[in-house]
Amino acid sequence: MILKTRLFTPGPTPLLPAAQFAMAAADIHHRTPEFRALFQKVIGQLKIFVGTQNDVLLLTSSGTGAMEASVSNLTSPGDRVLVLSAGKFGERWADLAKAYGCQVDLLEAPYGKTFKIEDVKAALKPEHKALFVQASETSTAVSHDIEAIAKLTKPTATLLVVDGITGLGTQRFDVDGWGVDILIGGSQKAVMIPPGLAYLSISEKAWKAMETSTNPRYYFDLRKERKNQSKGETAFTPSVALVAGLGAALDYIAGQADGDLAKGRDALIDNAQVNARATRAGLVALGFTLFAPDSPSAAATAVAVPEGMDSGEVVKALKTRFKLITANGQGTMKGKIFRVAHLGFFDYLDTVAFLGAAEHIAKDTLGLKVEYGQGLTAAQKVFAAASK
Ligand SMILES: *Cc1c(COP(=O)(O)O)cnc(C)c1O
Repeated sequence: MILKTRLFTPGPTPLLPAAQFAMAAADIHHRTPEFRALFQKVIGQLKIFVGTQNDVLLLTSSGTGAMEASVSNLTSPGDRVLVLSAGKFGERWADLAKAYGCQVDLLEAPYGKTFKIEDVKAALKPEHKALFVQASETSTAVSHDIEAIAKLTKPTATLLVVDGITGLGTQRFDVDGWGVDILIGGSQKAVMIPPGLAYLSISEKAWKAMETSTNPRYYFDLRKERKNQSKGETAFTPSVALVAGLGAALDYIAGQADGDLAKGRDALIDNAQVNARATRAGLVALGFTLFAPDSPSAAATAVAVPEGMDSGEVVKALKTRFKLITANGQGTMKGKIFRVAHLGFFDYLDTVAFLGAAEHIAKDTLGLKVEYGQGLTAAQKVFAAASK
């Protein structure tokens, strides 16, 4: 039997072939009219994809670069900030804010859970310069209610900074209506291209805060980027190939809805949500336990393994038997959960393939009592109901 490698990790995600071709052909210099035309086209598309009239900047870095830029550009040493943390990426916000000398008030939710809005309301103080949170906490596959959090920050001076790196393309945002001051995305997630680009939308309220903030910044000086990017250029050499790939990916997403990118993005979001629901139903039918049943992310599903088992065994078995790559838990969740992705270039038949493999693994590796087809049937029912 031959095996095809299938990437089911929540970043990097499978690559779109059209984007790979665009990347391979991208031998253009970044200070030319050709690049400026490409760059301006992609920025225009990104604004539609993010769904905002705010400026959207593109940075050559992984997603964490845009997280760091948000902290360094908005804050000054000694500023009090509120971090909402429910996993590894929430902890990254706290670490970053501390690294830039902020006084961090931390509101934590246990791994696998989201925050109670009353607790956020009680924790938010007028002196908080910014509130940092994830839209989708990829380490536990939990989604947070950004609309409800934005209702708390919008009437205040506190800036709302959202890591939407796996939220974008898997959940809906009304950036301008809700008052999300910064929303961050990353290239290796829903937009189907390799790692190396981060993008972020920035509100007028955030630009104003940057005028008085005093933390040091150089590569990630967002004011300098804004000046350059308004002319179709970046402050430094950008990843030209990734910009070309991103343009092709956004064309593809628009093509899912006859060229209407906003509708194509919504189709992409619905796709992730239906595949996530079908995966959850299939896994539960096989006897697996969901790690985050209350507020699951559509970017990925986190699955707990029975007591005494190591989730690494499942990851390993899927890889050796099917070349199907999933992610183990991160940090203290390593060995306890495995994660399977739905964001980006996945379709329903990919979900069927994953569940087919999961049935073999549940039976042979975990020793669960499985009838072949049991997980697939549950997933097919979800798909059938969703496609009515
Ligand atoms: C992938 C991811 C990041 C970014 O990580 P990088 O390795 O810097 O790209 C940040 N936050 C979340 C929620 C993520 O899923």
